[in-house]
Amino acid sequence: MKDMQQLEELVSHLREEGFRITPQRVAILDYLLKTDDHPSAEYIHKIVKKQYPMVSLSTVYKTLDLLREKKLVNEIEVDGEARFDADVSAHINLVCMNCGKIDDIDEESLNEIQTRAEKKSKYHILKGSFELFGYCDHCKSKF
Ligand SMILES: [Zn+2]
Repeated sequence: MKDMQQLEELVSHLREEGFRITPQRVAILDYLLKTDDHPSAEYIHKIVKKQYPMVSLSTVYKTLDLLREKKLVNEIEVDGEARFDADVSAHINLVCMNCGKIDDIDEESLNEIQTRAEKKSKYHILKGSFELFGYCDHCKSKF
């Protein structure tokens, strides 16, 4: 699913919307689409800098801001730090409060919850954010 075609579609969509596409921005998008790690802006910067040593942290922030505005990434706050997720389909993020790891869990019932919420509220819901906090399998024995 998260392949070159998805990247190309995203890039052409952004270009149509008048977004200036630079190789650095493509590299940021490419990394976000490929990773399941829910990286912070600083971490994305570290990765993209390997390929584009001139890329600044503020370029990363600006690109993430735009992607968030376009609803192409979700932001999750963990311990006051923003983490980014390019998977905007309905899923649950499990957040480890010790090591900061974030895992995705697909959960069909989220679609039901959304439909029920729409019926109750008459809202047209476009996206959702579901986070469950606790300790991961590795960290849980310490608490
Ligand atoms: Zn953990």
